[in-house]
This record gives sequence, C-alpha cells and structure tokens, in this order.
Amino acid sequence: MQTVGYAARSPESPLAPMAFERRALRGNDVAIEITHCGVCHSDLHTARNDWGGTRYPVIPGHEIVGRVTAVAPGVTRYKAGDRVAVGCMVDSCMECDQCDKGEEQLCRHGMTGTYSGVDRVDGTPTHGGYSGAIVVREEFVVKVPDALDAAHAAPLLCAGITVYSPLRKWNVGEGTRVGVIGLGGLGHMAVKLAVAMGAHVTVVSRAKDKEADALALGAHVLLVSGDREAMAAARDSLDLIIDTVPVEHDLNPYLPLLDVDGTLVLVGQIGPLGKLSSLPLLRGRRRISASPIGGISQTQEMLDFCGEKGVVPEIEMIRMDEINHAYDRLEKADVRYRFVIDMATLENAV
Ligand code: NAP
Ligand code: ZN
Repeated sequence: MQTVGYAARSPESPLAPMAFERRALRGNDVAIEITHCGVCHSDLHTARNDWGGTRYPVIPGHEIVGRVTAVAPGVTRYKAGDRVAVGCMVDSCMECDQCDKGEEQLCRHGMTGTYSGVDRVDGTPTHGGYSGAIVVREEFVVKVPDALDAAHAAPLLCAGITVYSPLRKWNVGEGTRVGVIGLGGLGHMAVKLAVAMGAHVTVVSRAKDKEADALALGAHVLLVSGDREAMAAARDSLDLIIDTVPVEHDLNPYLPLLDVDGTLVLVGQIGPLGKLSSLPLLRGRRRISASPIGGISQTQEMLDFCGEKGVVPEIEMIRMDEINHAYDRLEKADVRYRFVIDMATLENAV
C-alpha cells in the first residue's frame, strides 16, 4: 500500500514529505487510517539523533489514533470501522517471560519501536504516525473507549502510559505524595493521572508562570526548582517523584524532596546522570529508578481509566506542515501541553 509521511532525512534536515510503502497485510495485521498523531519529545530526540542510532529516513510519531480500514484473516479483535490506537511499539518476541506477563516493553529480545525500528519478519524499517496509514499486528493495537475523542486520546498512547505505568508500579493511591518534575507533555499527564488516583501532587518546574496551570490541572502545589528556600522547605515531603526532564540535569537538588524510602523515577532523559552524590540517597534510603512506557494490556487499562475518569490531555491542534515550527516550540517548552497533528491535513501538506 502506497502512502506518504513526514520524514527527517538527517539530524539537521527539517521534516519533509516522503512517499513509502506500507506492507501488505499478513497473519493478524490490522490496517489503520491515521486521523490524529501526538507530538512527543522523543520524536524530536529521534529526528535529531540525540540518542544515537536513528535510522534515516525516519518518520516519527507514536501517539497514533485512527480507524481500521482492513484486517487480515487471522484478526479476531478488530473489524473495519473500529476506532483504534497504536503507541510506541508494534511488535515484540511474544515468547519470553516478560511478553508472557504483558510487559512487552521489557521484552528480553527487545521490543520493536513504532518508528526507527526494524520489522521482525521482513527486516524493513518501521515508520510512525506522521503518515496516512499504518499496518500493525493486532496484539499491538488498542481500542479507544467511546468516551474519549480521537484528538485527546492520541497523547495518552505515549505521554499517558509512560507516567501511568510508574504511578501504578509504585502503588499511588489516596493520599500518596507525588512530585512531578517538568510540566510538559508527560508532566501534565502525570499530574492529571496522579490526581485521579487520589494523590497529593506537587509540580516542580523551572517556571513560576506555570503555577496557575499546575493548579488548574489539579496539582496542589507548584515548587519553583530555582527557589532554594522553597526547595529546602519541601524537604522529605514526597513519596514518589516522576522526573520528565528531557535533558541531562543535576538530580542532587531534587532527591532531598523525597521522604525516607521514597523513589525518583526517571522517565525523561536517557543518558548519563552527571555528578550524582550518594549522600541524599543514603540519608533517606532513597532510590532512583527509570521506566520505559508500559505494556499493551496496561495501555488499554490506562485508556479505559481515562475514559471513565474523564482524564484527557490539554492539546493544541496543528497541521502536518506546521511540524517543524512545533518542534522549535517543543524545544523551548513552549507548548501547553501537547501538540496533536490533524492528519486530515496531510493531503494538502505533500
Ligand atoms: P516536553 O513536553 O518538552 O516536556 C518536558 C518538560 O521538562 C518541559 O515542559 C519543562 O518543564 C522541562 N524541561 C525542559 N527542558 C528542561 C531543562 N533543560 N531543565 C529542566 N527542565 C526542563 O517533553 P515530553 O514529551 O513530556 O517528554 C519528556 C521526556 O520524556 C523526553 O526526553 C522524552 O524523550 C521522554 N520520554 C520517555 C518515555 C519513556 O518511555 N520513558 C516516553 C515518552 C517520552 P518546566 O518548564 O515545567 O520546567
Ligand atoms: Zn513518546
């Protein structure tokens, strides 16, 4: 199937239209016409090769919502017309203990990324959701609950699940004191989800001017990370911190915010942690962890949770041809709080 997408051809080149093939349906594949795709900071990191290993040309996008247009004979869960979604992975070995547990993101043989990955069967590069259509085996397709509209559902597929998973893993519930560092795409979803779980939420941001937004999102407090006095006064006040900062940063000022046995979970930056002192860890027996997205069944659970509780992202719709400008703004943390591409605009953008 011939389709078109927006691709980066090198770390320096802006995204531009590219025609390419989606594979013919095999096994239990589902063909999806993409209606909306969220813009994740990981798309930008990958397009610019910030983490190394990007396979060019790359068509980013892993917050995909659309409609089923066709299914292979082996498909049991979906039919043409269904509203469905695809997140950050499109395959895994499906045989190891982690895949058996529904933790495909931790597959022993490595999950297949939605973009900049390699198809396990035919070895072709995977391409993401800044495109007209995608073909995915049904185990990696989830259902969008009726209560969620397509544009608002899209960011849940990465920003939503990436913070939902650690909130569940660390048993956030009524009264848990949760901190969220960085009020961006992931951060604002962490606030909304933690609040919906009953947590007391503190946002830790560089920006004092995000205070009104933080409170409107349901957070109880905004701490300005550069305000030494306020940071010192908040010592030992949190059980769990979700750190969404996308670049290398000093963790030493944040760790004392944790109470004894508290955990800071890195979901943002990938790479070296800088000069980390063991002292704040030792003093409060505190822990640092990190967490990649979440499994497929948990992604469905999160979507259903958001549908039931009315938890949806704050979005700004953009046209496909506005993507390069959106990247510039994302880099400056100038988005409140997630760009979503209206994929109906792709046709006029090529
Ligand atoms: P985003 O919308 O750009 O939000 C990041 C926020 O971090 C910003 O709004 C800003 O908040 C803060 N920030 C930005 N630059 C900073 C700096 N230099 N120092 C301190 N704080 C800074 O990005 P996102 O889409 O939420 O993604 C965040 C990170 O998560 C990215 O690195 C992305 O690749 C990663 N990610 C990881 C996973 C995973 O599976 N673990 C999944 C998706 C994304 P304030 O203005 O409030 O300070
Ligand atoms: Zn993402």
